[in-house]
Amino acid sequence: MGWCALCAADGGWSRRRFLSVMAKAGLAVGLLPRTGGAFTVFDESADVTIGREADPEILKQFGYYDSPDLQNYVAQVGQRVVAVSDTRFSFQFKVVDHPSVNAMALPGGFVYVTRGILGEMNDEAQLAGILGHEATHVNSRHGAKLMTKALGSQIATILGVGAAAVASRGGAAPAAAMVSSHLANYMLLGYGRDYELEADEVGLRHARRAGYDPRRMLALLRWMRRSEMLRGQQLYHGFDATHPDTSMRIAKVDTMANLLIAEPGPLEVKGDEFRSHLDGLRYGEAKSQRRLKIYVVKPGDTLGGIARSELNEEGRRFELASLNDLRDDADLAPGTRLKLVVSGTSPSLDLKLTPQ
Ligand SMILES: [Zn+2]
Repeated sequence: MGWCALCAADGGWSRRRFLSVMAKAGLAVGLLPRTGGAFTVFDESADVTIGREADPEILKQFGYYDSPDLQNYVAQVGQRVVAVSDTRFSFQFKVVDHPSVNAMALPGGFVYVTRGILGEMNDEAQLAGILGHEATHVNSRHGAKLMTKALGSQIATILGVGAAAVASRGGAAPAAAMVSSHLANYMLLGYGRDYELEADEVGLRHARRAGYDPRRMLALLRWMRRSEMLRGQQLYHGFDATHPDTSMRIAKVDTMANLLIAEPGPLEVKGDEFRSHLDGLRYGEAKSQRRLKIYVVKPGDTLGGIARSELNEEGRRFELASLNDLRDDADLAPGTRLKLVVSGTSPSLDLKLTPQ
């Protein structure tokens, strides 16, 4: 659970697998002089090259989520946020078919959210906050900056050598792998406290400027903290080490959100619209065959009643409340969309998925 693939230990974004993806991408682009010119890993065009080459590898490893509607929707929200950011990059936003609660960015403008994180969010404002955070890592070139710092002298040495010389010494492959390995580390473990705080702050500012309510990001962070406490630290290996302490982060986002709402402009949340795009979304491990079903509240409905009629168990109202970020005695307005977790073999869902 977490951001920027920092929950590598949670659900299979394994460091080793990711490293091999990045190393392959690094080799494919040749992060080194290869035509006699000085190809530096640290300029913006190199960011784009790295991203473009690694993107198909990421999709191959983690799977592209096969819903054009959801893909378009996420991309549209992402473009709306980056449009106010004065970016120099051209962005692509994609949903990957992975159950972990995660989001990450490749240099050059490639941003990914997992189906896992989408399933836990409740509105478009939260999605905008996450995409704004990831886009900030790209725009501020956090990966390149950290690589420069970590590899500075080694890279300078490498770049001082002509392509032919590197090739003849067989130096290109290990050097590219070395660069890729650093980059993969940042993406998996986060970019360090300062850059994460910058991404929080700038991302939230951009989401606000794009018209979204920044307080919804606060709600998502609080959910993450609750979830972290419930599931225990061990799932979140690396969380404390490389990301700012969640409480500190929440406090900062809280302060920031309160300042931002005082600025003029709309404060959109778009909960029902967001949830309507989640209908049929795979939920949890693929083998569990669970999906989200979006239920439209009818007059007189209660969470208990919905749990009884739709999930065959009134006690599941607590789960319903938590999933939808509601109190379990919440008054439900007719027309509200609610997420329900149903089994793939549930009759109501079969009816929906199987053409008659
Ligand atoms: Zn981050």
